[in-house]
Amino acid sequence: MVILMEKNTPEVNVERVIERLDKEGFDVHRSTGVEHILLGVIGDTAKLDIRTMQLMEGVADAYRISAPYKLVSREFKPDNSVFTIGDVEFGGEETVVMAGPCSIESEEQIMRIAEKVAAAGARVLRGGAFKPRTSPYAFQGLGEEGLKYMRAAADKYGLLMITEVMDKDQIDLVERYTDIIQVGARNMQNFTFIRALGKTRTPIFLKRGISATFKEWLMAAEYILAGGNDKLIFCERGIRTFESYTRNTMDISAIPVMQKLSHLPVFADPSHGIGLRDKVLPMARASVAAGAHGLMVEVHDDPDKALSDGAQSLYPHQFEELMAQIRVIAGVIGRKIAEPVQL
Ligand code: PEP
Ligand code: MN
Repeated sequence: MVILMEKNTPEVNVERVIERLDKEGFDVHRSTGVEHILLGVIGDTAKLDIRTMQLMEGVADAYRISAPYKLVSREFKPDNSVFTIGDVEFGGEETVVMAGPCSIESEEQIMRIAEKVAAAGARVLRGGAFKPRTSPYAFQGLGEEGLKYMRAAADKYGLLMITEVMDKDQIDLVERYTDIIQVGARNMQNFTFIRALGKTRTPIFLKRGISATFKEWLMAAEYILAGGNDKLIFCERGIRTFESYTRNTMDISAIPVMQKLSHLPVFADPSHGIGLRDKVLPMARASVAAGAHGLMVEVHDDPDKALSDGAQSLYPHQFEELMAQIRVIAGVIGRKIAEPVQL
């Protein structure tokens, strides 16, 4: 249930409503919009009489949310969620670009790539230290050593850092280094894991599961918000379809659909989305044109020798070109992308 408070109602009225709900055993999430305060009531609200709530002082309306996902839905919070991590705003006017290698391979490698992507205007350095690989014999990542190299590289070039956490037991360790936690596609419905992520206060980048519907993806995010962590970014990264020519099928429609259903930022990852280097640029253009709040792109300075995902990683000069092109597209729809930086 959502309770809409009257415009400019005194705080005591809001508190009285919260107190009452609290006494009846409900969790209340408060959302402050431009005009109104909304209270999201979580729990078995079937037993709550909607009319008694409507009659309380300061209450403009009370209504039931039809979607099973509540806190992530636009019904609960009509305005876009805009938040900052470090000095970067997410969900706002800027289309934020995250870039870097699939895996951190060495200190020198992550330093070299960080410099290139920062110079082209990326704001966040991506790279995996714990890699979810299909084969147990493939490179699994450098672990904590990799996190140290990446933190140093991000700090040196003024970037934020995002890296994947694969397991509940890794959360504490990775949080000591990273600004944003990536939840991989294969883990989107690992419920004990995502519930634990709700307890952290590190922002979460939630990739879409390989065969997840929008509803399943929204419900996964609901686990995290219900735990009290409300800095969450969705990322479309391609889904599995009958087509096998491309690695995945990049679902551009996810961008406007998720933005309609949720107030949270929606990013796109064209690298995993299509899996073929020469098609990453057109998919990136399409994502920005569709209104993505940001992109995640894999970049490697020697992709033929990359320890993972070389075939979909852009050369630094291709990434520069991508940035130049999407800057133009972003401008057309009233968004902005960071300018190149002289390092
Ligand atoms: C990655 O970002 O390198 C990755 C493994 O992504 P996904 O979980 O989308 O496959
Ligand atoms: Mn990858």
